[in-house]
Amino acid sequence: MKNERMVLDKYSFGLGDRFGHQGQAQLRSVMKASEHGIEITPVWNKSQREHRIIGTRAMNVRREADDAVRQCGWGGSYFVDADHIGMEDVDEFIKASDFFTLDVADYIARSSEPRVVDAFVEKYGKYAGRVELGGICKPLEITKESIRVAAGKYLLAVKRAGRIYRHIESVKGKGMFITEVSMDETDEAQSPADLLFILAAIADEGIPVQTIAPKFSGRFNKGVDYAGKAGKFEAEFERDIAVISFAREQFGLPDELKLSVHSGSDKFSIYGPIHGALKKFDAGVHIKTAGTTWLEELIGLAMGGADGLAIARGIYERALNRIDELCGPYETVIDINPARLPRVREVSGWDGARFAGALRHDQGCGDYNPDFRQLLHVSYKVAAEMGRKFTDALDKYADIIGENVTENIYERHIKPVFLGA
Ligand SMILES: [Zn+2]
Repeated sequence: MKNERMVLDKYSFGLGDRFGHQGQAQLRSVMKASEHGIEITPVWNKSQREHRIIGTRAMNVRREADDAVRQCGWGGSYFVDADHIGMEDVDEFIKASDFFTLDVADYIARSSEPRVVDAFVEKYGKYAGRVELGGICKPLEITKESIRVAAGKYLLAVKRAGRIYRHIESVKGKGMFITEVSMDETDEAQSPADLLFILAAIADEGIPVQTIAPKFSGRFNKGVDYAGKAGKFEAEFERDIAVISFAREQFGLPDELKLSVHSGSDKFSIYGPIHGALKKFDAGVHIKTAGTTWLEELIGLAMGGADGLAIARGIYERALNRIDELCGPYETVIDINPARLPRVREVSGWDGARFAGALRHDQGCGDYNPDFRQLLHVSYKVAAEMGRKFTDALDKYADIIGENVTENIYERHIKPVFLGA
């Protein structure tokens, strides 16, 4: 094992599980894909924000993943992702994780020293002009000035990523973990040309990045569909893939380097374009989902029995009363229209099927309410505060919840992205 290097396979799927009860149900969705001839590596991810709100630690995710793998007899590889970590919190994740998402978005657009920028422009000035991307995509049009702008925006952030990477390497050893660099949690999207120079800087820092998460155009709100022009996304996504393969060759980055889409879950309208691009370029991808598994837990509770439904309703009632507090941390990734949220009185008249219909992300269902869904999506704190009352109910209704969790991931995500169905 000493000389081997951990590699993230072509297709990988990031699973979030806020309460740590659905590891096996999640893994079963990946096993189902395997039965259909698609090999996907599961990656369990949890960010520090979630750990803080739920009261868990990185080691809980490690135990959940190991346990699910053992119980299900999964023979493939799998990883535990320290999601969106920085220098401040990386140490809490080092032992438990073997996949690190270095979040350096906060360092974007902080100025680097002019001589550092000058040296970068000098080194990469040879790309000014037209950069052909293998003929399938529109070439990049680059000027020295655009290289300078990109350097000014991203160099410091990439340097920061280098610091975090080297820190992890000093503890875990070279090749003993997967590195992702994420720049998605920022206001401004990165163009394919930006991506090229970000990758150049990453290569200069010596980071063996295997997956990179840029910010794409359009809105990636949590738990609901993509908001933006799918056609524009498609063109950008294809060019990003082409840039990655160009950068791999030019800068000597790892062969397995691929895009990571931090989907925030449920970006159904761009799953088709993603699938098409993966086929067209024979490219890999990492899809990182948010915690919609927790919504499947609510759906399962509502459908499971009267006491389960009462818990689900109670969570909604409290969420409505604390809407500002719960939505605050997610402000940039949700769009809730309060006027469209059902009143508590109305919800108290709903049966389990009606509650599930409002919550389940089925755009063809007349009961589906995206505002209701988004509010509940960010309200897991309320369930966390219920403690045992909530987790005991998860155990009681484990079967119906598990079925919903597996079906949701397999039918609504894995199938359209990886099987194109
Ligand atoms: Zn992200």
